[in-house]
Amino acid sequence: MQRVTVLGASGSIGKSTADVLAANPDKYSVYALAAKENIDELCRQSELFSPCQVITASEDKFPELQRRLAGKTQVLCGMDAMIAAATAPEVDIVLCAIIGTAGILPVLAALKAGKKVALASKEVLVLAGELVMKAAAESPGGMIVPVDSEHSGVFQCLAGRRNDEIRKVWLTASGGPFRTWEKEKIFHASLKDALAHPTWNMGRKITIDSASMMNKALELIEAKYLFNLDADRLGVVINPQSVVHALAELTDGSMLAQLSVPDMRLAIAYGLSYPERLDKPGSSMDLSKLAELKFFAPDPVKFPSLEFADAALRAGGTLPAVMNAANEVAVERFCAGEIEFGDIWRIVGSVMESVPVEGQESLEQLLAVDAKARSKAWQWR
Ligand code: MG
Repeated sequence: MQRVTVLGASGSIGKSTADVLAANPDKYSVYALAAKENIDELCRQSELFSPCQVITASEDKFPELQRRLAGKTQVLCGMDAMIAAATAPEVDIVLCAIIGTAGILPVLAALKAGKKVALASKEVLVLAGELVMKAAAESPGGMIVPVDSEHSGVFQCLAGRRNDEIRKVWLTASGGPFRTWEKEKIFHASLKDALAHPTWNMGRKITIDSASMMNKALELIEAKYLFNLDADRLGVVINPQSVVHALAELTDGSMLAQLSVPDMRLAIAYGLSYPERLDKPGSSMDLSKLAELKFFAPDPVKFPSLEFADAALRAGGTLPAVMNAANEVAVERFCAGEIEFGDIWRIVGSVMESVPVEGQESLEQLLAVDAKARSKAWQWR
């Protein structure tokens, strides 16, 4: 029986994680559940799993959570509680699905404490990939299993292979709702248009990122650090059906692909169970019912995100953190109706040019760079 702490339990990935855990009660028990503001969902999952601790990151919601779970479990609040729940000796696996970079401290602490970290928060690797991978490598027992669908696909294609056997890794992209739109029309797209993802049902931030293809830019950085690959060995190909998640081309030209129905519970299940495999939940894919499987090259003129990624992959250091911070603010401003959809790229491009690139030295340095990039992104007019 493995004990799991789930950070970011109330979001789209968190709820799918709850499905996987509930389907495998003989294999997993829940040590702690943490989320920010969705108290209803925390209470629902607390009822389901009877965890030792339930944590909110919101001081405003803390009294309500205490009241509703009084006598049932220990109720805690804040980042220190999340770090303690990620490093407790009873815990075997930490699944981190906190939106944005807020998961960095518990993830680093969990790795240092020798935990297996199933990581869905790609921004953590984009902010501090070198530091995070170093923490994983230096800690006995500490390891990261990617929960992003593409990276889970790469992880499965590369299982047991040496780095020098890999010619190139391809992440697939659905292309999002604007794949077939004209450039000018994309620039002025509404929030409603951007939230209409054709294949995946996800949270708001990642859905906007998919529409702008900034999600794929972040995923390329994530792949660089997870699999130790440089810009020339990383590519993106559009698969509108979202059935092929990743491909790995080996040095002899052989190409491996990972396919499944687009269901995040598969990547979550493998993140929890690796190196074993679970038998539920998992829907089979009927290839004969798949009418077509198409691939296209992405269009860097319509979607400048991939050029930002290329610059960030080549420069490394603090540039990925700057790209990510500028994008988070730009998405927030777009959702608030302050800027146009196309302004997301203008903000990211302008902030990436204005913050000098440094090597990755410490978390404090990266957080300072992150804050500087955010402030520039808020000031952009
Ligand atoms: Mg993904």
